[in-house]
Amino acid sequence: MVNKPRATGFTPFWKAKRLDEMSRSEWESLCDGCGLCCLLKLEDEDDGAIAFTNVVCELLDSDTCRCTDYENRRVRIPTCVQLTPDNIETIRWMPQTCAYRLVAEGADLYWWHHLISEDPETVHKAGVSVRGKVVSENDVCAGEIEDYIIGWLDEEEVEASQLREPDRPVAR
Ligand code: SF4
Ligand code: SF4
Repeated sequence: MVNKPRATGFTPFWKAKRLDEMSRSEWESLCDGCGLCCLLKLEDEDDGAIAFTNVVCELLDSDTCRCTDYENRRVRIPTCVQLTPDNIETIRWMPQTCAYRLVAEGADLYWWHHLISEDPETVHKAGVSVRGKVVSENDVCAGEIEDYIIGWLDEEEVEASQLREPDRPVAR
């Protein structure tokens, strides 16, 4: 069983609370701002395999890696998935670095998460975010989307060095 509290006493909220116990502000602050979940994905009709592209949703600001209309995103982009404590464990394409996935799986946040580093830029400096790696769907012809399939989000291709704090020999 995952998504359960793993600590008691004075500990950070993401360790002390289950996802479904967090306040709205705690929940929102958990997002690391990587933008990886805003990449367009292709699903194989035969085996259901998911392929990521380096094309991002038209509402994503590819510099800040934040949604430009977060409050209205579900209206403007009906396919935008709203994460909840209930569905985080069932969305199989969430990146392994996603803070919601990590907490749901009982893992700690990485050094570059702003709740650890106290710097919203570290997710970009670590190379984990989509900054500098993507194009907007507004700039891509629909029929050419397969040309943008990428490999850098594949779990086996996530560089261990990205997940490790500089000058630390082992991951947190
Ligand atoms: S992948 Fe997770 S942490 Fe990254 S932007 Fe999406 S919800 Fe936030
Ligand atoms: S609507 Fe916003 S949150 Fe949803 S996929 Fe697009 S950019 Fe991301």
